[in-house]
Amino acid sequence: MSDRAEHVVIMGPQGAGKGTQAALVAPELRLVHISTGDLFREVRKADTELGREIRDYYDRGALVPDELTIRMLSARLDEVMQQDAGIRGALIDGFPRTQAQAEALDRMVADRGERIAAVVLVDVPRERLVERLSGRLICSNCGATYHRVFNPPKESGRCDVCGGTLEQRSDDTPEAVERRLAIYYEQTAPILDYYQTAGLLVTVNGDQPIDDVKNAITAAVRPRFSDAE
Ligand code: ADP
Ligand code: AMP
Repeated sequence: MSDRAEHVVIMGPQGAGKGTQAALVAPELRLVHISTGDLFREVRKADTELGREIRDYYDRGALVPDELTIRMLSARLDEVMQQDAGIRGALIDGFPRTQAQAEALDRMVADRGERIAAVVLVDVPRERLVERLSGRLICSNCGATYHRVFNPPKESGRCDVCGGTLEQRSDDTPEAVERRLAIYYEQTAPILDYYQTAGLLVTVNGDQPIDDVKNAITAAVRPRFSDAE
């Protein structure tokens, strides 16, 4: 096993299935799932100045400013890498979303003496995304993701993992979805070229059953680790 941490980034438009896949593949690849969206959902619940600031961006489907987002990711990465013995690194979901964030991640990883092993694009055609997002439900307690039709919970309205109540995300409204997808194609998708040039990008077809996507991701990522299993 390499002693230098190795991270994987999972990218794709909203609704591609990043969160769903991250929950499945992270344990298999010995990675810890870090989702900036989950971090912001947690913070926005709090009745604090920071909570109110985040809520304002989040609920409109706007990006939280880079400086704050980068700081939150860096702090979470520190926590994860200190706590979890036996893990390889992080599976980073929802970050980077801008070129400035991609460059900040490179610096962060280099400063820590770590590396990015792969960037996975979960590729799903745009016309599929709205039907996925409009049926999405998440657990208000643990954040697990479901879909009313494509991935329903065993008991309606209850999380299979923790029994928490399922709800629709406050940013899965038609207006916020449109804004988020527009931001993705304008600001986030161009970063894919940056990772392609760096030789890190692997593309997986996300328009297939959840288990098939999972198998495609693990098969594509495993050979990218320095101790390729
Ligand atoms: P992202 O994190 O990329 O925004 P999610 O993981 O939240 O996407 O998935 C969006 C919605 O699509 C969820 O309701 C999820 O249950 C559903 N979903 C995820 N993967 C698939 C798939 N392969 N086929 C059909 N629905 C899916
Ligand atoms: P997600 O769960 O990844 O769809 O993210 C939900 C929301 O959290 C986004 O619409 C943004 O408001 C915010 N967010 C998550 N990640 C980032 C990021 N890397 N940069 C800026 N805002 C983010």
